[in-house]
Amino acid sequence: MFIFEIYKNANPDHIALVGNRTLTYGEMDQQISRYRNVLYKKGIRQGDRVAIYSGNCIQFVLAYMAIVSLGAIVVPVNFSLVEREVDYIVKDAGISLLLTDRPMKAVCPVMGLDKLDDLSRFGKAGEAPAFPEGITEDDVCSLVYTSGTTGSPKGAMLSHKNIVRNIQQFNDVVQFNDRDICLCVLPMFHCYGWTVSAMAPLYVGASVVVLNSKNPKEMIHTIEKYKITVAAMVPPMYHLLVRRGDTSAMDSVRMFISGGAPIPQPVSQGFYEKYGHPVLEGYGLTEASPVVSVMHPDQPPKYLTVGPAISDVEVKVCTKSGGPYKPGEVGELMVRGDNVMKGYWHKEEETAKVITPDGWLHTGDLVYMDKDGYIYIVDRIKDLIIVNGENIYPGEVEDCLYEIPEISECAVVGHSDPLRGQAVWAYIVMKDGCPFDEDSIRHYLLKNLAAYKVPRRFIPMDELPKNSTGKILKRALRK
Ligand code: ATP
Repeated sequence: MFIFEIYKNANPDHIALVGNRTLTYGEMDQQISRYRNVLYKKGIRQGDRVAIYSGNCIQFVLAYMAIVSLGAIVVPVNFSLVEREVDYIVKDAGISLLLTDRPMKAVCPVMGLDKLDDLSRFGKAGEAPAFPEGITEDDVCSLVYTSGTTGSPKGAMLSHKNIVRNIQQFNDVVQFNDRDICLCVLPMFHCYGWTVSAMAPLYVGASVVVLNSKNPKEMIHTIEKYKITVAAMVPPMYHLLVRRGDTSAMDSVRMFISGGAPIPQPVSQGFYEKYGHPVLEGYGLTEASPVVSVMHPDQPPKYLTVGPAISDVEVKVCTKSGGPYKPGEVGELMVRGDNVMKGYWHKEEETAKVITPDGWLHTGDLVYMDKDGYIYIVDRIKDLIIVNGENIYPGEVEDCLYEIPEISECAVVGHSDPLRGQAVWAYIVMKDGCPFDEDSIRHYLLKNLAAYKVPRRFIPMDELPKNSTGKILKRALRK
C-alpha cells in the first residue's frame, strides 16, 4: 500500500477531518486531487522535494497527500525553526517548493497554503497523471529531519512501506476503529504526531480533529466539544492536565497515549488517579517511522515501561558482555523491521553508523528489558554522564528527584570538569508556592543515591527549555 492510499477503505460519507473546516472522506479525496493538479501545474514531479512549514491545519494533510500521490517527497519542517534554520533544510534537501501557513522568504520558491487552496478551486480534475509511473512502495515519500536535540538535523528517508507498515503495526496494538474521534494536537511535522494522530486514524476510517494550540484550556474544550475518544499527547501536556483541568471533561476519552519523551512516574500516576485512565506510554524515534513499542490498552497500568515491541518489529539489547541477554541488563536498544528508515539523505557515512549491514538500527538509547520483553528506557547514550570513570544515568537521578513531592520538573546533565571529566548538575523547577531548599534536596539524594551520583550543583529554574515533543533540551542546558 502507498501512503496516499491509506484511507482507501474508509466510508466516503464519514467525517475525515475537522478543523478550520470539516471534510468527509469523499470530500478530502476530491480536495487532494485538486491540490495535486495545482502542484503538477507548478512543475512538481516524481522525486521532487516539497517542504511543508506550517502549524497543524487541514491543508497540511491535503498538501502532504497531494505531494506523495505525485510520487514527490514531502519534507515536513518544524514550525518553530527560524528562517535561517529552514534555509539549511531547504538547501540540504534541495527543495523545489515550500508550502507555508505564514508570510516568509526562503532560498526556494514559496507558496502559501491558502493560495494553494484558492488555486485548487479553479483546476480541472485529472490534469496530473493518475498514478506516478513505476513508483514502488520502497520509494522514499518523506524526508523527516530529526529535531536535532543531539546534533545537526539529518533527513531520515522514509519510504511508503516504512510509514504504512508502522501505521499497521501500531494499530495492531491500539486497535483504533472507525467510530473513534482522534485528537491531533501533536505537531504534524513530527513523525509521532503524523503517524499516530493523523495517519493511524485515517487508516481505520476514523475522524481526526485537528488542533493548532497547546493551550490546556483549548485542548480540554476541544476534547469536550468533539467528544474525543483517543488523545495522543506528550508528557508536558499530561503534566498540565494533572495540575489543572476538569475531570468530567475527559469522560468521552477511552485511550490516552504518551510518547516522544519520558513521562515522569508522578505525572502518569497522578493522571491515572485524577482521570481514572492509564496513560499508554509508547516509544519511538524518527528513524523508525517512529513507533517501536507501546503499552497494550487492555493491560493494567505498569509504570516506567514503554511496553513491548509492536508486531513485526524485532528488538534486542546490545550489552557490553555480548553474551545471551539476561533480563535487567542495560545496553543499547537495536530495532529491525519494515519501519526502519532507508538511511539519512545524502549522508552515507552517518547512515552506516546507525544501520548495520543486516538491517539493525542503533537507537542510541540505553534500555533494559524484563523477562516478558517489556522495554524500560534508561537514558540516551549521549546524555550519559561519566564522572571519574563512573557511569551515571541522569534518568536515575531525575527519578530520585521526582520522589520529592515539591519538585515539579527536573533535568540532570553533565558539565565538563577539569578534574573529574564531568560534573553532575541538576536543574530544578519547584511546584507553585514551594520554596527551593537546596540542602534538603541534597540531603534526600544522599540518603537514596551513592554520593558520586549526587549533583554538585542544583540550579533553580522557572521552566526548562523543551522542544515541540516535550523533550527537555539538555544541549541548551549544557550550553
Ligand atoms: P536528535 O536525534 O537529532 O537528537 P530527537 O531525538 O529529538 O532528535 P526524535 O526522533 O524526535 O529525534 O526522538 C527520538 C528519541 O526520543 C528516542 O531516541 C528517545 O531517546 C526519545 N523518546 C521517545 N519516546 C520516549 C519515551 N517514551 N521515553 C523516553 N524517551 C523517549
